[in-house]
Amino acid sequence: MKVIEKIRAAEAEGKTVFSFEYFPPKTEDGVENLFERMDRMVAHGPHFCDITWGAGGSTADLTLDIAKRMQNMVCVETMMHLTCTNMPVEKIDHALDTIKANGIQNVLALRGDPPHGQDKFVQVEGGFACALDLVQHIRSKYGDYFGITVAGYPEAHPDMIEGEGATLEAYSNDLAYLKRKVDAGADLIITQLFYDTDIFLKFVNDCRQIGITCPIVPGIMPINNYKGFLRMTGFCKTKVPADIMAALEPIKENEDAVKAYGVHLGTEMCKKILSHGIKTLHLYTLNMEKSALAILKNLGLVDETKISRPLPWRRPANVFRV
Ligand code: FAD
Repeated sequence: MKVIEKIRAAEAEGKTVFSFEYFPPKTEDGVENLFERMDRMVAHGPHFCDITWGAGGSTADLTLDIAKRMQNMVCVETMMHLTCTNMPVEKIDHALDTIKANGIQNVLALRGDPPHGQDKFVQVEGGFACALDLVQHIRSKYGDYFGITVAGYPEAHPDMIEGEGATLEAYSNDLAYLKRKVDAGADLIITQLFYDTDIFLKFVNDCRQIGITCPIVPGIMPINNYKGFLRMTGFCKTKVPADIMAALEPIKENEDAVKAYGVHLGTEMCKKILSHGIKTLHLYTLNMEKSALAILKNLGLVDETKISRPLPWRRPANVFRV
């Protein structure tokens, strides 16, 4: 089923829903651990889960394999990320045909970052230049079969950000480009991580002003580790409000304290977002379960005493179609 249909149905009932993002682990043991964790997390009823596409297409086969298992063995509505980096159209179509044959109806269509060691994104021969091209291709080749999600950037795409932030002109161009992705057939937006909730709420408002009407799902990344947080916000050029830095400074060497603060902050951010009528939350789990579940527990969205299916839950491997 398409995630957008599930979200629309939940919206109609006034329900708050959530989803989890995972990335492909580097080792076979890591993959099995991830499935065990996913089993436990999916028992709490996420609306969907998604699996990333490794930078530069580095995890293509593994991402496809994990996506198939998520949909057909973990039995959770699955969204697979797909990028244009190093992907001629034949490879893109192979990925899309494979997930279609395995009952997956949801794709997060991305341009991707430049391949390792390159500064600028360069279109591979026979491939696409941007996510807009990919969205257009999916719609023209696969019609309405896929629900298509695209990335949105509350602070503008990092390429547009210099110094203190994107100029108004760069931000407006970025928004106009996002609208083109939606007009070309995307039906859902998931945002880049952010730590200033007001920036996200303004972004939603600005999207509505230019006629973007599809749901805009906030991407929430709980802070688990101080160094990881600095690395990620540096890479994404994310603004970090001064009060968050001030709260982290005295506890930065204490991992448990940082995690506890991350749960507190994530909870408060989500509460504020929910109070503005946005009812779908997307958690960047970084393949960890505790912080994401603790935030949802604080919000009353999961209850450890009431899991929705017995554990361990997994269908035996059925015959996947390649
Ligand atoms: P695009 O939407 O194509 O564009 C990026 C920016 O370039 C735009 O914001 C726009 O300002 C500009 N631009 C591009 N084309 C045009 C045009 N024709 N006209 C005007 N402006 C244009 N990366 C991975 O490698 N794997 C993943 O699984 C992954 N998952 C992600 C999930 C989310 C929710 C997000 C927010 C990001 C994810 N990324 C992932 C990172 C993403 O690949 C990078 O941010 C990448 O640099 C841009 O991808 P995009 O799809 O946003 O690009």
